[in-house]
Amino acid sequence: DNNNGNNEIIVDSDLNDNQPMLNYGNLKGTQEIEVPNLLIDQVIGHEESIETIKKAAKQRRNVLLIGEPGVGKSMLAKAMAELLPPEILQDILVYPNPDDSNNPLIRPVPAGEGKKVVMLNKSSERGYDEKKTLITLLAMVGVLGLGFYYQSQGGIMWAIIGCIFIFFISMQIKHKNVSNAPKLLVNNHDKRFAPFINATGAHAGALLGDVRHDPYQSGGLGTPAHERVEPGMIHKANKGVLYIDEIGTMSMKTQQELLSAMQDKKYSITGQSETSSGAMVASQPVPCDFVLVASGNIQILEGMHIAMRSRIRGYGYEVFMKDSMKDTDENREKIIQFVAQEVKNDGRIPHFAPDALDEIIREAKRRSGQKESLTLKLRDLGGLVRAAGDVATEEGAKIVTSKHVTEAKRYSRTLEQQISDRYIIQRKEYSVFNPEGGKIGIVNGLAVIGDRSGLVSPIAAEAAPAQSKREGKIIATGKLGEIARESVQNVSALIKKHTGTDISQYDIHVQFLQTYDGVEGDSASVSIAAAVISAIEEIPADQSVALTGSLSVRGDVLPIGGATAKIEAAADAGMKRVIIPRSNLKDVMIEKRYEDLVEIIPVDTLSDVLENILIEGSKKNNLIEKMKKIGTKVVQSVPKN
Ligand code: ADP
Repeated sequence: DNNNGNNEIIVDSDLNDNQPMLNYGNLKGTQEIEVPNLLIDQVIGHEESIETIKKAAKQRRNVLLIGEPGVGKSMLAKAMAELLPPEILQDILVYPNPDDSNNPLIRPVPAGEGKKVVMLNKSSERGYDEKKTLITLLAMVGVLGLGFYYQSQGGIMWAIIGCIFIFFISMQIKHKNVSNAPKLLVNNHDKRFAPFINATGAHAGALLGDVRHDPYQSGGLGTPAHERVEPGMIHKANKGVLYIDEIGTMSMKTQQELLSAMQDKKYSITGQSETSSGAMVASQPVPCDFVLVASGNIQILEGMHIAMRSRIRGYGYEVFMKDSMKDTDENREKIIQFVAQEVKNDGRIPHFAPDALDEIIREAKRRSGQKESLTLKLRDLGGLVRAAGDVATEEGAKIVTSKHVTEAKRYSRTLEQQISDRYIIQRKEYSVFNPEGGKIGIVNGLAVIGDRSGLVSPIAAEAAPAQSKREGKIIATGKLGEIARESVQNVSALIKKHTGTDISQYDIHVQFLQTYDGVEGDSASVSIAAAVISAIEEIPADQSVALTGSLSVRGDVLPIGGATAKIEAAADAGMKRVIIPRSNLKDVMIEKRYEDLVEIIPVDTLSDVLENILIEGSKKNNLIEKMKKIGTKVVQSVPKN
């Protein structure tokens, strides 16, 4: 039997024994775990990145953090702000310019002073107003007194006219400071750390500052220009950290402006909308001496302004962040610290008992998708911690136990997992697949949607003698049509070699039955080949078998992603056996409850696949015979290695 060579399925013993994952001593729960004060000490699993961040903070350098979502990029950026040398923070005031009202003046003052200046101005304004009212009233009383004295000569009428006159005069007199009062643009009063400003997704106005539109501008009745000046995030981040995730999605023009702000360390505020009266106004340059921390996954580099990238490389550090860490006792302890942190930060859920921590560590292992690793996609794992906490809270439990975590895993299935569940139910109802018996030309492929959800995705092939004499057609429908066509073309040479059949004499239809849009198809080539061969040779394929794998042009079955999720999905759908590439065996970490439901069959070649999926009978025996004969020749003419 060629499958049983080294058929040990790696079902990680840690995941399936009921042994504790750590020696907890007499730890009662995470309430006994101390949570560090500084954010940088709360960041888990990124020791090297942390060293770089510390160095960058000391030197005030820019940083580019590349990594998967939810591994702690924004957390690191925030931690960096706490580490920045306690520079003297500044408040920024904006004043009217007596020489050019469209060019408001900028004045930085030490942090805390800005508020005082504005208050002082307000109080002197109030004092002036009180005096003015008093003088006005006295003048009116005087005029009225005179009017009564000269009553007989019509003095009262003159007195009333006089009062009205005095009133208008007094309305016209303004404290010279009223229109001169500054506006506080950036307020750093009572800041303990350097500012951390998250500018992810900010539009140009919010990022670079803006001047509001004033409809009354031309009539001279409007709000003075300096009062309409609004600071940008680059200004609020002065002396601190400006964090931008997904920087590649920012327009080139904005990136260009950001770059010049970084170079000059100051940036004049002007109206961002060209049709607005704000566009006439441009302030004096406003200080914006920030450290940029940009982040994203590796693809963002494509959308990033070249000069921006080179600026960071030249005046800063590029950091690649891991998405998993080695599974050691030390790192398992860090996962426990993480749980303690999440419980503390949430503030509403109970602490975790050791058996609950075991479940979380197991899940961290499973989610890493690799052997002997723990996941660092801790945002998602934090979701599980909170969900388990909620389950416990609902029950009125004082501490979270393993039972709560197991239950939470059911509730906190991702959107993709829920879609996949729904599909399985629907498909069972409409019997798109029926995991029994044999069918010609139909196989149960396996796909992944989202991050870690598997899906059974049936593929149907039909072969008819070609209508055109010269060449048969490959007709593939659905979103995955492109991939299907390519796969069929790739496998045609293989089919010829393996079975002696020339598929160019057939018109071949390939259809993905009820495919969900998010399915990626590169791992479907083995399934397509199996379906086409079953159709051409008219040999039924076993419907209790699911399969996945990527086919090389030589007929080798190459590894695919998401092996564990696919196997679990097959088991959920009632499949009895799952064919996977042998090289994926090491990634298989199925949950215990699936172990007895499915048999995993590792394969190396297309022949192995056909052996295992085609239903026994004389036709199959003939085909295998043929394949063996041709196969020997192939091996002789193309020696492996
Ligand atoms: P990213 O910016 O990479 O998408 P975040 O920094 O926003 O990820 O992480 C979200 C949350 O997940 C954090 O606030 C923290 O609670 C948790 N978290 C993520 N990574 C880590 C880590 N390495 N150490 C500790 N907590 C983490």
